[in-house]
Amino acid sequence: MKQNCWEFRKCGRDKESDIGICPAVTEIYANSINSGKNGGRICWAVPGTHCDDKIQGTYAQKVLMCRECDFRWKVQEEEGSSFKLIYFTY
Ligand code: SF4
Repeated sequence: MKQNCWEFRKCGRDKESDIGICPAVTEIYANSINSGKNGGRICWAVPGTHCDDKIQGTYAQKVLMCRECDFRWKVQEEEGSSFKLIYFTY
């Protein structure tokens, strides 16, 4: 499996903490998208993630921050034409 955001950023938010486990780690609806584990390779589209040690907002609220994130561009490069920017929860 390819690198997930918590492995790349070594954020430690894949473990229980004061603000819980990051939703990117537990988002089962995003599993295997961009070859990741749960939301680990589509974290920019997962609401409420814990980057920078605080609970972030929705995709729309995070988009400017995530656009600056080197992990987001790394995933796009690695996935090429199969890259997914968003996902749907049914
Ligand atoms: S979204 Fe951010 S805080 Fe959450 S696991 Fe990924 S890198 Fe860590």
